[in-house]
Amino acid sequence: MAEQKRDYYEVLGVSKTATEEEIKKAYRVLAKKYHPDMHPDDKEAEAKFKEASEAYAVLSDSEKRAKYDQFGHAAFDGTGGFGAGGFDFTGADFSDIFGDLFGGMFGGGRTRGTSNGPMKGANIRTSVRISFLEAVFGTEKELTLNLKDPCPTCNGTGAKPGTSPQMCPKCGGKGQVVFTQQSFFGTVRNVQTCPDCGGSGKIIKDKCSDCGGTGYITSRKTITVTIPAGIDNGQSVRIREKGEPGINGGPRGDLLVEVIVSPHETFEREGTDIFSMVRISYAVAALGGSIMIDTVDGRIVYDVKAGTQTGTQIRFRGKGVPSLRSKDIRGNHYVTLVVDVPTKLSKEAKEALRKFDELTGDSLTAVERASGSEPDSDKKEHKEKKKRFWEK
Ligand SMILES: [Zn+2]
Ligand SMILES: [Zn+2]
Repeated sequence: MAEQKRDYYEVLGVSKTATEEEIKKAYRVLAKKYHPDMHPDDKEAEAKFKEASEAYAVLSDSEKRAKYDQFGHAAFDGTGGFGAGGFDFTGADFSDIFGDLFGGMFGGGRTRGTSNGPMKGANIRTSVRISFLEAVFGTEKELTLNLKDPCPTCNGTGAKPGTSPQMCPKCGGKGQVVFTQQSFFGTVRNVQTCPDCGGSGKIIKDKCSDCGGTGYITSRKTITVTIPAGIDNGQSVRIREKGEPGINGGPRGDLLVEVIVSPHETFEREGTDIFSMVRISYAVAALGGSIMIDTVDGRIVYDVKAGTQTGTQIRFRGKGVPSLRSKDIRGNHYVTLVVDVPTKLSKEAKEALRKFDELTGDSLTAVERASGSEPDSDKKEHKEKKKRFWEK
């Protein structure tokens, strides 16, 4: 193979004194002519494309070109970068050429972009469980996760130190291959992720032993997540640039932390409003009295008016959940008062109730008695009742 290697200038069909522009132009013509996308499964075209790309990689890089002028192909022997069939493309800028050539041709079909362009890393999703009150007032949580970092041994290339990843010969470094198929309607082009390089555009022959050729090492990291007051179950907090590392110098992806809010014993939430239910005794409902009501801000002493109906709703303005937009805007807390009907009565208490019933007259129907004795019956039904025995 090495002895058959053609002179790079000859491959590109340019003179030894060709300018950068002439070299680029010559390569552009050849790349267009022999690109694997245009000749799927044509080994000869593939070989020509590789040969031209290799020549261009060297001649378009002034340092490599000078070495080549001085030592010929021997300049790159044994470096690993120009081993069997592959070559080092890291110094050459193919992106603008392939961009020019194929960007328009396939209507922007190269969705992954060029393999050597910077790309943002992937986002990572995780979740964290917080309590109801932590969601109301905000909190900080420490998350421990496995985060990828570029491998320091190979600088993220995945190649053994002293070697370089080589351009994937199958896709010419694009990460995608185009298959053309003849069909009834004419020629159909299908773009697919390159099966040889998995879309990276690079093939690593000598893998870095520290990262196994992936270019990344994974380590346990602890990240503090600030969860804003007012967050609701299922919402996510985005932590910028704590996701997967970027590709070719691109920024890291983001970490998206889904917040799972545990239900509260007493409080329920709807948007920024909080709802709860407080049981009061017959006596308090009928005669009035002070009760304690729990809110997220602590206990409040509330004076129940005499003659309070079961199902009565009271509103505590601004005792709800803060809006995510501003801590100062808070919803309300609605408390439904439910008159408790005792189920376990002492002999004396039963006597007293009978006496009470006699004293308050005969206005109760059997239906009212039945529903009134159900402590958990529908509050609306209670509201619809017009008469209460204590009103008599
Ligand atoms: Zn490595
Ligand atoms: Zn490939």
